[in-house]
Amino acid sequence: MIDLPKITPKRLAIKVKPAAERSIRAGHPWIFDGSILKEPAGGRAGDLAIIFDQRDNKFLAAGLYDPHSPIRIKILQANTPATIDRDWFRERIEGAFAQRQPLLATDTDSYRLLFGENDGLPGLIADVYARVLVVKLYTTAWLPYLATVLPELLRVSETETIVLRLSRQVQQRTEELAGLHDGQVLHGDLPDPEVEIREHGLRFLANVVRGHKTGFFLDHRHNRKRVGELAADRRVLDVFSYAGGFTVHALAGGARSVASLDISAQAQEAARRNVALNEFDATRHEVMVADAFAGMEALYRAGERFGLIVVDPPAFAKRAEERERALQSYARLARLAARLVAPDGILLLASCSSRISADEFFTTVEDELARAGVKYRSLERRFHDVDHPIGFPEGGYLKAGYYEIG
Ligand code: SAH
Repeated sequence: MIDLPKITPKRLAIKVKPAAERSIRAGHPWIFDGSILKEPAGGRAGDLAIIFDQRDNKFLAAGLYDPHSPIRIKILQANTPATIDRDWFRERIEGAFAQRQPLLATDTDSYRLLFGENDGLPGLIADVYARVLVVKLYTTAWLPYLATVLPELLRVSETETIVLRLSRQVQQRTEELAGLHDGQVLHGDLPDPEVEIREHGLRFLANVVRGHKTGFFLDHRHNRKRVGELAADRRVLDVFSYAGGFTVHALAGGARSVASLDISAQAQEAARRNVALNEFDATRHEVMVADAFAGMEALYRAGERFGLIVVDPPAFAKRAEERERALQSYARLARLAARLVAPDGILLLASCSSRISADEFFTTVEDELARAGVKYRSLERRFHDVDHPIGFPEGGYLKAGYYEIG
């Protein structure tokens, strides 16, 4: 393991407003800066905030302090006092690992081991890609604890290499990072940033240094598997195909052919490689490098129709101001895709925008289908795969609706 910053966290005694006390008691993991009533001066990222009840001064919660984030405290432990030490971290990590066992019983070697807040470790992500562990930090408050947490993660996941990924905000905190940087190998070797992984028996390359998220969209795994089950004998269109996750599963499921549509030539190159890695006949796969909206329009005009269409766009609304436009984009995509579905075909519409609730998304796309005169039947709705548990309201972002089209 490379040298990690040696920081000894201090303890900060803190009091918060009554509403924040109630939210802590209810198990919510965030305390915003505006909720703090009393705190000592000079707190540093990673100090351990101990929140005391205003009335009786009893322990209420312990959490990670971050003076640079509007989420001033990320709660680790609420209601009952505990020492935040190696045993405490070990228990959380082992608990999270146990929850992933049903997935690990399948032919899958890549999964999210820690999903931050949802696994009781706010701001910390740990994804396993075969023998490589990718740890992503959303706050520098984790830095003092890495030396304790990383060996436990290695042991539990039986990985050999650790890659560090940093959120955009964390990358800017160069002083605290003391030389640590995004994409750095902290432990073991990484001969190639493209790591070969298995997902329900299929092979993929995930770029753990430069790929989206930490390398792969692990959260959609169960939807890719479902698409494989639905694809037999169908002509499939995979819109926003990235590295061809849905494409490869559809080919494995016996699709007659699959067309991948993505604006990125690099993503399409990755999709081609993933198809080849699984030894599928390349003539069953076709790539279109184009904007999804324009590409679907062109396909429609050319009279192309598909028995199964997947539309899995990037997050359109990461901020509240982007919500209206995002909803309009989802509606447009639903309308454009529905026209391309052959009779009795299936349409999968997904959203990973955290700012759009599942209800809003489903209502928006279903209203749009109805307005466009499309006869549809909702087959099922799915959310995250089991390695992305939802532990608090803001923890859920992924929703996918399956529709049979008229
Ligand atoms: N379905 C994929 C993940 C999709 S990620 C999977 O399961 O792995 C979103 C993808 O959308 C990225 O590959 C990005 O290149 C692509 N993209 C972003 N904007 C686009 C646009 N306007 N048209 C087409 N593709 C776009």
